[in-house]
Amino acid sequence: MEDLQKEFGMSYLFIAHDLSVVYHISQRIAVMYLGSMVEIGSADAVYFEPTHPYSRALISSVPEPDPTRRNKKRIVLQGDIPTPLNKPSGCAFRTRCPMAQQSCAEAVPQTVLKNSGALVACPHVG
Ligand code: SF4
Repeated sequence: MEDLQKEFGMSYLFIAHDLSVVYHISQRIAVMYLGSMVEIGSADAVYFEPTHPYSRALISSVPEPDPTRRNKKRIVLQGDIPTPLNKPSGCAFRTRCPMAQQSCAEAVPQTVLKNSGALVACPHVG
């Protein structure tokens, strides 16, 4: 795929759940939850410095083959994924978000440029 990309100057939209593969193949990564984009940025920013609470949980679940880096803490989300046909009000991730606040139920968060250089749909993180 990388050879074809170089030869023909192509772009790919690569959709997968294996984030280590996504990182390997991507220049930019977008993270989606219940059909909405919650974070988008360079592959390095999203993979090594995830900002949105859902991105952090996803990245924390990637198995680490390097034994010297296995001390990272896994974030285990509680609760079930809501149906996309009846999303929670406000931030759709709020029913499973460890940082959820009362205000998260009131409005859908807009994406904002964060310190990592990624656009992130959460007003409560850096
Ligand atoms: S807006 Fe609230 S519920 Fe949504 S990700 Fe941010 S802190 Fe969590």
